[in-house]
Amino acid sequence: MCGIVGVFGNKNAADLATLALFAEQHRGQESCGLAVSNGSYIKLHKRMGLVKDVFTPEVLEDFPGEIAIGHVRYPTCGNSNEYNSQPHLVETLYGPVFSLASNGDITNYNQIRKYLEDEGVFFHSFNDGELLIRYIVNKLVYKKQTIAAAIRDLMKDIKGAYSTVFMMQKELYIFRDPNGIRPLSIAKLTDGTYVAASESCALDLLGVEWKREVKPAEIIRISDKGMEVFENDAREYRSGEHDHHCIFEHIYFSRPDSFEFGQNVYEVRKKIGGVLADNDKIKPDAVVPVPDSANFIALGYAEKKKIPYEMGLIRNHYVGRTFIKPDQTIRDESVYQKFNPLPNFFKDKIVVLVDDSIVRGTTLKKIVKLVRKKGAKEIHLRIGSPPVRFSCFYGIDTPTQSELIAHQKSHQEIVDFLEVDSLMYMNMEMMQRVVPDPENHCYACFNGDYPIKLEKEVFKNIEYKNWDFNDHVL
Ligand code: SF4
Repeated sequence: MCGIVGVFGNKNAADLATLALFAEQHRGQESCGLAVSNGSYIKLHKRMGLVKDVFTPEVLEDFPGEIAIGHVRYPTCGNSNEYNSQPHLVETLYGPVFSLASNGDITNYNQIRKYLEDEGVFFHSFNDGELLIRYIVNKLVYKKQTIAAAIRDLMKDIKGAYSTVFMMQKELYIFRDPNGIRPLSIAKLTDGTYVAASESCALDLLGVEWKREVKPAEIIRISDKGMEVFENDAREYRSGEHDHHCIFEHIYFSRPDSFEFGQNVYEVRKKIGGVLADNDKIKPDAVVPVPDSANFIALGYAEKKKIPYEMGLIRNHYVGRTFIKPDQTIRDESVYQKFNPLPNFFKDKIVVLVDDSIVRGTTLKKIVKLVRKKGAKEIHLRIGSPPVRFSCFYGIDTPTQSELIAHQKSHQEIVDFLEVDSLMYMNMEMMQRVVPDPENHCYACFNGDYPIKLEKEVFKNIEYKNWDFNDHVL
């Protein structure tokens, strides 16, 4: 998971981009970067670490320019190091300089990389953002295409998720993959600046005149002439009529104050809680979220049931999200640093504990143990998504399938493992009730129905009963 931003037409472009990146820090904490153009050359600065640590006032002082793109990274393709961080920069001998940042994963990376290497293109990293920029630059420089034509070809050839910002010295391009898997919005600020960002919450703090989502396959160019839109029919590039927005953005990843895929994330989360409550017979003393991502799911549940909503677990916000720490040892230790039960709150209570999802189950097991130790009489676990049985290949770092508890264990085995009194998930029918256009979403990590075909070597690692191999492989 990553976050991107693009800024055009502001002498403080680097400052604005940094503010927006800071609002998207939850989308990636491993590394961050900015590329800024002053009209003649593009300067790049990227480092491992958080936005506030990398983009200090001293660094930003030395970053003049009116166009900027930026990126926060959580690694999904390529190792966790500076080479694989974004934006990527490509200089050419005859003058133009290009920079690109993207959010998502390419599902036919190896195939496209081989094609480009056979054309004589060199790579510095194993990051899919570099694949996108090398593809475009190859088309521009060696095939003499326009940028819009190169991006259209990219949409034909490169499969997967890629919400993207791409800049030259005097222009900014913004485009999104034909399935619209990851979110991307654009805004015009009251002072005329254009800003694009993965999440709308990153735009709100900048003084927005208007904002909207970038459509799947849409290509937007912003230059001295203003904003031009290259309408592009997404159906020409994908199989089927429908978009495939990641439902997990609504369940967990995005900030609740973002608007994406035509919905307020906050409202979708509350609806999830309401649907769970409608299907649940239990009458607890209190509904307690695992903070923060389950807060509004639990609120929706409590409101529907007319049962007290209580913040029985207090989260330390200075420890990163456990889910996005790549190393298991660090993840285990941080559970106890991160959550602390309220003193005397749980004693003798029947509690509905709400979480957004169960991935490995290891964190949740420890949280349940904490609550049990504090004297809870019964713990009923309610989950705001169906069981996660399949890995994601579109930009979210879910573990391998064999690490997913719902792939390994039966419902009762999970109840026993977590040591809860009962466990209820959303089912697919309930999940599809929380958005008005369920057909336009991806649910592959629940049902294995991958909307974009995967490379053979990826597919071989998926264990899926009753799948026709040939239906799902390129
Ligand atoms: Fe989102 Fe799951 Fe689809 Fe990945 S597989 S894009 S996490 S819904």
